[in-house]
Amino acid sequence: LFNKDLGQHILKNPLVATSIVDKAGVKATDTVVEVGPGTGNLTVRILERAKKVVACEADPRLAAELTKRVQSGPHARKLEILHGDVMKKTLPYFDVCISNTPYQISSPLVFKLLEHRPLFRCAVLMFQLEFALRLIAQPGSTLYCRLSVNVQLFSKVELVMKVNKNNFKPPPKVESAVVRIEPASPPPPVSFQEWDGLMRIIFNRKHKILPSNFKTRTVMSMLEQNYKTYCALNNLIIPDDFDIKDTVLGVIDSVGLSEARAATLEQHELLKLLYTFNQAHIHFS
Ligand code: SAM
Repeated sequence: LFNKDLGQHILKNPLVATSIVDKAGVKATDTVVEVGPGTGNLTVRILERAKKVVACEADPRLAAELTKRVQSGPHARKLEILHGDVMKKTLPYFDVCISNTPYQISSPLVFKLLEHRPLFRCAVLMFQLEFALRLIAQPGSTLYCRLSVNVQLFSKVELVMKVNKNNFKPPPKVESAVVRIEPASPPPPVSFQEWDGLMRIIFNRKHKILPSNFKTRTVMSMLEQNYKTYCALNNLIIPDDFDIKDTVLGVIDSVGLSEARAATLEQHELLKLLYTFNQAHIHFS
């Protein structure tokens, strides 16, 4: 009946559906994007409050069911259905995003939303519990990872509630949780490509001290290539005694992080590290 590849787990508990919509604080002037409306258990509640709902559904059978459910009601004209894979769509302007997310697209969907402009007000999203815990993980916690730092750089994330798997039909294998994401406005003046490039290196093995994550041949030659490209593009003369390894390790040392591990670094320390690398013309993208 349900398509496992599309992560179809219908939310059966009306109390959970209502509190998801409550947490989004939808106003009568809002346009709401819903990802994966399915049979419309969240959609009908959003329609009662929003000015407009744009619901993107990959399964044509469910999209048809949703149309049928809404068409005779008072809010039919507020609903627009986008047919197909949300990851391939250009989303319209929206104030709020609500989704009982198909878990396969959790991570790409979060980044698609955070890259969207103009920025939305908030997103209330259901994820697998472990993914939700990674989103909110703080330095020192086991689940603190590249995903945590990337999402927390561009937004404020909070856990709204845990949701037991028996609230879904069919029940998924794992527990779920709802998170609320509020984009930082204005966004931090940091290039995501640069930031993420650095995070990839240091979170590759997050318990190693920083220098050892940099000391591989792949990382060093990538950084050396980037350095030379940067110098060429900016008419900078490369010093005769330039040594990429000394430069990189020198930067890490100059910010006092030679013994530090990514697993426990705070956002401000990571920002300072990136800034100092960039000052030394070391780039990650
Ligand atoms: N919103 C409904 C609810 O809460 O009961 C259904 C949620 S179900 C977990 C995920 C929904 O997303 C399914 O309807 C599925 O067909 C749809 N879906 C899966 N992948 C998608 C994609 N890439 N783009 C758009 N919709 C997708």
